[in-house]
Amino acid sequence: MNQASPEDFAREEQAVADRLSRIKRVILVLSGKGGVGKSTIAANLAVALSREGLETGLLDIDFHGPSVPGILGLQGEKVLTVNDAMAPVEFTPNLKVLSIGFMLREQDDAVIWRGPMKYGIIKRFLGEAEWGDLDCLVIDSPPGTGDEPLSIAQLVKEKGEAVIVTTPQKVSVDDVKKSVSFCRSLELPITGIIENMSGFVCPKCGETVDIFSSGGGKKLAEDAGIPFLGGIPIDPATVVSGDSGKPFATGQSQSPVTEAFQKIVESIV
Ligand code: ADP
Repeated sequence: MNQASPEDFAREEQAVADRLSRIKRVILVLSGKGGVGKSTIAANLAVALSREGLETGLLDIDFHGPSVPGILGLQGEKVLTVNDAMAPVEFTPNLKVLSIGFMLREQDDAVIWRGPMKYGIIKRFLGEAEWGDLDCLVIDSPPGTGDEPLSIAQLVKEKGEAVIVTTPQKVSVDDVKKSVSFCRSLELPITGIIENMSGFVCPKCGETVDIFSSGGGKKLAEDAGIPFLGGIPIDPATVVSGDSGKPFATGQSQSPVTEAFQKIVESIV
């Protein structure tokens, strides 16, 4: 890979700063572990914010498992170049989406990119994409505290804020503590913690069963002095909505998940 000259580097940094000056909030959705529902929450948060009338962007930088195209039913979409800028894919007129998944030739292509290459592409997603004026850019970054969340936090600087997703059980909460210290060491403000898969409401008897225990996310939030944004129960319909490309936040049906999610979105707004 060619090293960028100092002039190129300065030009790229300026391009990122120029684009970011037109974006009011950048929300990084983080998690300590995979499989806790981070991408589901990021995608549905973006949909919900756009439905509140906000100009919204969604950027998926999960290089090794970009799931946003599938959750939004945008598989097979490609990123076009218009006037020398990357044109995000429109989910709706006020929700623009870019995903590393749109850049892969085949959906199942393995992506073997090392840290500096990831930094380069994340920088392009911010500096060379035509996001326009946005109220909010939601970013789905991979689990953990690796290259991608670090790159994005360094690039968005004081515009950034984090929403951290966990499940209630100890193994997930323990990993989330690392996300909390990651944010603190980067001085990235934490908007709050969401506890996903927080109990299962039996559709037959209405009783709540705490499959993955409960309250771990809330306790962590209290202990760390971070706002607790709320819990989202387990609902098999969530899996169906994610697999079928119809995000539940489009508001087609009401359920304990959609109600819990709406409250969380209100706190974030
Ligand atoms: P991550 O991004 O943390 O790896 P995903 O968002 O891809 O996790 O979610 C993993 C799986 O869990 C998906 O099949 C998704 O539909 C499912 N899921 C997420 N949240 C819930 C929930 N509240 N109830 C049931 N299934 C869920």
